[in-house]
Amino acid sequence: MDFANLTEQQICDYVVDLQMPKFRGKQIHQSIVNGLSLEEITVLPKDIKEKIIDFYPKHKIYKKLISKDGTKKYLIEFADGNIVECVLMSYKYGNTICVSTQVGCRMGCKFCASTLQGLNRNLTAGEILGQIYLVNKDNGGNKKNRVITNIVLMGSGEPFDNFENVCQFIEMISSEESLNISKRNISLSTCGLVDKIDQLAEKNYGISLTISLHATSDDERKKIMPVANRWSIKEILDACDRYFAKTGRRFYIEYTLVNGVNDSKEDALRLSNLLKGKVCHVNLIMLNPVKERDLKATSRQNAEIFCKKLNDYGISATIRRSMGEDISGSCGQLRNKFIK
Ligand code: SAH
Repeated sequence: MDFANLTEQQICDYVVDLQMPKFRGKQIHQSIVNGLSLEEITVLPKDIKEKIIDFYPKHKIYKKLISKDGTKKYLIEFADGNIVECVLMSYKYGNTICVSTQVGCRMGCKFCASTLQGLNRNLTAGEILGQIYLVNKDNGGNKKNRVITNIVLMGSGEPFDNFENVCQFIEMISSEESLNISKRNISLSTCGLVDKIDQLAEKNYGISLTISLHATSDDERKKIMPVANRWSIKEILDACDRYFAKTGRRFYIEYTLVNGVNDSKEDALRLSNLLKGKVCHVNLIMLNPVKERDLKATSRQNAEIFCKKLNDYGISATIRRSMGEDISGSCGQLRNKFIK
């Protein structure tokens, strides 16, 4: 039993069962949302704290790194000693947090550091929420005055491989008793599990859907993303069309440019043909090379040529500004440094 996974009402019911007044449940819930540790709570007397010590969330910030560009990277440690990373990026329009959904990942993408050690376990909804509550607090925020405005599920892990907990998380973080973050400001990134794209469309949350495509033919995709053996590019893009039809939200394509693998003029043409007429936007990403892998980033100049080609073919595309490179910006890179 972990209070981190419960709603305010559920915590209230629980404390009443433990012979405590209901208002204690509200205080406990509010303290969790404010990112407080049990020791930091001032409104609860000692005997109450003792009664709930086994149920109160124990995750904490294990390490924090601040980049030259202001990006902050956090390692969050959970009760069982597992560590995940999350990143806070500041933009003109607000602060975006990138959170992890699993400890490790089993998707096996060749360019990604999260998958090097395989999947350790899923995160609970409360552990995904906890990353946000802790970082919000660390930056001077609380429930009423939140610092975080946008959430991307783009950290370690494949969110669709942890579907139920991720859905519970989305419902909780967007509720008024939590940080009340609009679902429109939440974005989920997936390597393309087609059945789950349809299930997410059914939920009709209206969150943004981002597909990590990274290749323009199934054969090339199979070389860098094992998931391509299960679902074809066409099946994925058809599911994205259904997502748009159901939710009215345009979708996003992530395309990490890898030197000599997927960054040719022919790739730009094939990508344009795949996306022609679709309501989507392409984010081109500069590969952040993972030292265990033999893949190199494309040159800035080639990325610009690739982007211009897409634009010339009528596809909406931009090169994503790279942030936090000096602090092991990409998925899993920082965690790997610490678990070895
Ligand atoms: N599993 C999900 C979310 C996590 S990965 C997904 O596949 O989308 C988040 C994004 O970072 C993905 O687009 C992924 O392809 C990209 N990424 C992973 N490692 C990277 C690296 N070393 N350099 C650049 N982008 C990377």
